[in-house]
Amino acid sequence: MIKLTLSLQDAHAHLWHVRCEWTVLHDQEMQIIHLADWVPGSYMIRDFSRHIVSMQAAANNVAIDLLQLDKSRWQLAGHAGYYCVEYELYAFDLSVRASYLDGQYGFADGACWMPWLEHRQDEAYEVQVDLGIWGREQAWEIATTMRPVSENVFQAASYWEAIDHPITMGCLRTFDLNVLGLPHQVVISGASLAFDVDRLLADVEKICAAQIEMFGAAPFERYIFMLYVGDKVYGGLEHRSSTALMADRWCLPKLGAKERSDEYLQLLGLISHEYFHAWNVKAIKPAAFDPYELHHEQHTEQLWAFEGITSYYDDLILQRSGVMSTPQYLTQLAKTITRVEQGQGVLKQSLAQSSMDAWTKYYKQNENSANAITSYYQKGALAALVLDLYLRRETDGEFSLDDVMRALYRRYLQDGKGISEAQWRQLVCDVTGVNVQDLLHRIIDTTEVLPLAVLLNEFGLKLQRVAQPESQSAWVKALPAVAAQAATAFGAKYSMDATGMKITSVVSGGSAEQAGLAAGDVVIAMANLHIKQFDVIWSNLEVDDSIGVHYFRQGVLYQTQLHVQAALATTVLLHTEDEQLLSYWLPQWQ
Ligand SMILES: [Zn+2]
Repeated sequence: MIKLTLSLQDAHAHLWHVRCEWTVLHDQEMQIIHLADWVPGSYMIRDFSRHIVSMQAAANNVAIDLLQLDKSRWQLAGHAGYYCVEYELYAFDLSVRASYLDGQYGFADGACWMPWLEHRQDEAYEVQVDLGIWGREQAWEIATTMRPVSENVFQAASYWEAIDHPITMGCLRTFDLNVLGLPHQVVISGASLAFDVDRLLADVEKICAAQIEMFGAAPFERYIFMLYVGDKVYGGLEHRSSTALMADRWCLPKLGAKERSDEYLQLLGLISHEYFHAWNVKAIKPAAFDPYELHHEQHTEQLWAFEGITSYYDDLILQRSGVMSTPQYLTQLAKTITRVEQGQGVLKQSLAQSSMDAWTKYYKQNENSANAITSYYQKGALAALVLDLYLRRETDGEFSLDDVMRALYRRYLQDGKGISEAQWRQLVCDVTGVNVQDLLHRIIDTTEVLPLAVLLNEFGLKLQRVAQPESQSAWVKALPAVAAQAATAFGAKYSMDATGMKITSVVSGGSAEQAGLAAGDVVIAMANLHIKQFDVIWSNLEVDDSIGVHYFRQGVLYQTQLHVQAALATTVLLHTEDEQLLSYWLPQWQ
């Protein structure tokens, strides 16, 4: 048994005190203690050891040397006896994949602070949380899905299980709900305003029930949604029986509101997404993650299947459970297609490459990312849609992606092993009787345009691409007539401030790039007019006009001519042409 104690050493200094104790029964050459460098589910090396402020070791209560081997491994003597390693850990990363501590709130993702002993990752862990004066005087509480054995003491069967149960603490507001007989909790921390608790719980219950019913069973006995609400925060990280979520406090449903706001629906989408991961990535997982190797990147071409398919189902489950109307769902879908297609990166990087390069490209985006990469989340969701509609069409509705997900879960229940991409593709063929090898090769391994328009049309939807602002992408009751005048495109993203228009990124081959503008430039005038009138200036331009631009780069004033290009028709509109056909995919037309 490895015994860990996490103490709130000084919440105002954002310091945990970690104590790790264990016994060595027989003399050995040496022991090595490790701390993870990344957390499963978030594919970036984070070097958690950089938060260790001080560290010491003792054997049989006598201080001993601790030899640091590299950034996250330390060596100790190996003779038999009782050992203890202690460290002070700085915790001030307010995110779902790190640890944070202040006078109001504490959160500890296991991988960030729990050490492991070499060759002893499969040993049981006992984890005690000592809240100190915050527990005694501030009435702090703890929430985690780790198995409790006494007050604030928990056990896990292994290191892997222990790190998959994050711990949240503070003055928590805990709401219980029962989903098909399984206890669930929504635990809220952070300062929230009064909100419609009943609506939140009712919606969460519908979402959870729809997912459990889809898979036939849940891979957990209880589940906790740990939701921190703050100011301009957003994110989620999946775990086997809980999820850490962060959202803006305005996302919570307002009291008395008749409709669910877009912000609230986004929060429900996040809840749905992380819950779905309990099956897809926590139970069913890529072969490359079996087991995890937490010192190095683990590259895999399969993230599209685990993040993309999860992204496909997150909103679809909202529609199926009646939390989101079909027009609202189709508007979200139209926006996703628009976002994926408007970047040139979708023509440069396949989904397999996007997955493989997650560590260095998706997680390390720069001003050129839209021109160079595609998202395995968003394009992966569209690939899942293509596969789902293709299976439904080829089998006259007998099989769908739901059957594939159920079969993947059954396979996991049988052997618990990770699945390779080749096995995954073969399983789809075996379960449905449809040979999808060529389709999957084209949509996953190449940059071919996805056959979305054709497939959606077979399910009663017309997909039209128009040269309009991205914000207008939506499901529409009527498609617009073709515009008489071609729309124009500046070809850059920017923000306006007192100094002018700051270019944040330029579109490959677009008007701004051809004029020589680059990210970081500050445009101050166009046609000799102050740039604050940009909207007016631009609305008077036509395709093929030429206009003078003054801008600063590195503090030096430059002038250029910008040739106005036509906007590409990349904004997607969806329109229902045949409700009967649509009902074969989305049965609950509203
Ligand atoms: Zn995800």
